[in-house]
Amino acid sequence: MVSAKQTSDFDLDTVRADFPVLSRKVHGEQLSYLDNASSSQVPNAVIEREIKYLSEEHSNVHRGVHTLSQIATNEFERARESVRAFINAAEAKECIFVRGCTEGINLVANGYGRKFINEGDEILVSQMEHHANIVPWQMIAEQRGARIRVIPMNENGELIIDEYENLLNERTRMVAVAHVSNALGTVNPIREVIATAHKFGIPVCVDGAQAVPHFRVDVRDLDADFYAFSGHKMFAPTGSGVVYGKQEWLEKMDPWQGGGSMIRYVTFEKTRYAGLPEKFEAGTPAIESQIGLGAAIDYLNSIDLDAAFAWEHELLGYATEKLSAIEGVRIIGTAKNKASVLSFTIEGVHPHDIGTILDQQGIAIRAGHHCAQPVMQFFGIPATARASFAFYNTKEEADRLAEAIEKVIQVFG
Ligand SMILES: *Cc1c(COP(=O)(O)O)cnc(C)c1O
Repeated sequence: MVSAKQTSDFDLDTVRADFPVLSRKVHGEQLSYLDNASSSQVPNAVIEREIKYLSEEHSNVHRGVHTLSQIATNEFERARESVRAFINAAEAKECIFVRGCTEGINLVANGYGRKFINEGDEILVSQMEHHANIVPWQMIAEQRGARIRVIPMNENGELIIDEYENLLNERTRMVAVAHVSNALGTVNPIREVIATAHKFGIPVCVDGAQAVPHFRVDVRDLDADFYAFSGHKMFAPTGSGVVYGKQEWLEKMDPWQGGGSMIRYVTFEKTRYAGLPEKFEAGTPAIESQIGLGAAIDYLNSIDLDAAFAWEHELLGYATEKLSAIEGVRIIGTAKNKASVLSFTIEGVHPHDIGTILDQQGIAIRAGHHCAQPVMQFFGIPATARASFAFYNTKEEADRLAEAIEKVIQVFG
């Protein structure tokens, strides 16, 4: 997961200067932005690309013969090619543009489910999924008369692989698992999960929202059938996102939304659909956001990304050690293999109070169930406080976090 790169190669100050919001103050204090698992910040390169697009190039894509429409179409498709290269998909048309990870999973659940899931079939999801990788499957299961079965996890927040293998059978039609848990930070052995499902001929839909921003993802190396992620968690604007699907699956699936741009020919009797990727991109897409996603990938390619990822991983280890040393703090999610996320509770203090007190000091963390209520149910807690790191975070910020938590304990303790 982490490259052998030296983190000392990484020029943290230069990278921080690329993200203008990081220098602002909140409540008169220097901002420490530790809520990257919810949404990451955007670098100047992306902001400038958006301004250029909106002030010089904007038009609708796909349809026009005029110059602006051709420029917009070219830039939109160039962003798709950047995505393809970044995740090493075989073909750009396998990268469907969607509003985000949620829409991507809904596309797969509907497009695949309506065609291949039937009465009595089973869909496996894991106990640590984000609601985005549970609810769409529940909805399609209800429509199709299928049932959801759950891959359990252990007290550290790691999937129990033996139990997973036992759940696979001839009725299983889909395995839907996160690459990285947003509530726990667990990095799942997704390659192994996929290889095992493939032994039974079962496709796997990977929720990659928390993976793509934190280490290199190669969809062909993983042999993922579907892989969904959001632009706004990887330094791009909201409204951008991708669901990768293997061409052979995407071609067999029907579209899940109908409308303009996804057709070849329409009569009132019958419509013939367009080819990939248009078949799955009904209506006007989030053009400037997807172009912004392309710019975010160009930005990631312009920095020493392996060193950046290695730095972030070192920082997670550093912060984990600091918080573990504080009496009264319980770390939720202690898997051996983790990325970015540090969830915790403080004895006797509600996570929302922790979040509010930290905000007064300029420290942005999240408190809540993180759209993963089954995880909270498993640990028997209503919520956690969650700090989540990106490569632009610093050890000073981790120190500030630890000091602020100590203060919370003094006040409430
Ligand atoms: C954020 C997140 C999602 C949902 O992403 P949206 O951008 O809200 O569509 C799904 N899964 C995981 C693991 C996430 O962290």
